[in-house]
This record gives sequence, C-alpha cells and structure tokens, in this order.
Amino acid sequence: MIDQQAGSAVRTPAECERCGKSLERSTFEVRTADNARLRCLTCALTFWPLVRRSAIVALIVGTILTTINQGNIILGGDFPASLYWKIPLTYAVPYCVATTGALLNSRRLVQSAEGTA
Ligand SMILES: [Zn+2]
Repeated sequence: MIDQQAGSAVRTPAECERCGKSLERSTFEVRTADNARLRCLTCALTFWPLVRRSAIVALIVGTILTTINQGNIILGGDFPASLYWKIPLTYAVPYCVATTGALLNSRRLVQSAEGTA
C-alpha cells in the first residue's frame, strides 16, 4: 500500500468501503474516530459528520448574511414574497461552499490493486 499526501497515489482495493461502488472516477477519504475510510461521492456527501459540520456553518453564516442583507426589511415589519426564496438560498450557499471545500480537501487518487506496477 502506498499512502502519501492528498492528491497523490494511494493503492487500495478500488471500491467504496460503504456501498461497494467502484472508486475509479472519484474517491474521498472520510475520517472517523478511529481511522480514515475511502468513499464514493454519494457516500461522502451523506457522511453524517460532514453534513452536520456544513449545516452548522450554514446556520452561522446564513444567519449573518440574512441579517446583513435582509435585516432592515424584516425588522421593519415587512416580509415581501421574495424573501421566501432569498433566505433559504442565503443558507444554502454557505452549506454548498463548506461541503465543496471539505470534499475537495478529502479527494484522493486511487489506483486499483491490479493497476500499474
Ligand atoms: Zn459509496
């Protein structure tokens, strides 16, 4: 097994450790309390610690941005219909940014065991 820094080659069985899907297209290393595991994109996106962390970031940043951008309108007692899509979008953006950053940092290049020698 060759295990080096992010972006370098890792020789492992090329299957997601959760669902068994082939990891030839995309591989992500998720860290649990005891060790790191290789996952496909779908399993990495549904990895609970990542979802929880991104949700916390979205809650904090989304609240700050909503306050900055829409606070005067909300405190003024007015709630126009456009806020029904603007506010959820304000929370969705930091969630996507946090999730994308975490996935890009956990991305790994995997070579199958029967690959190049
Ligand atoms: Zn998977």
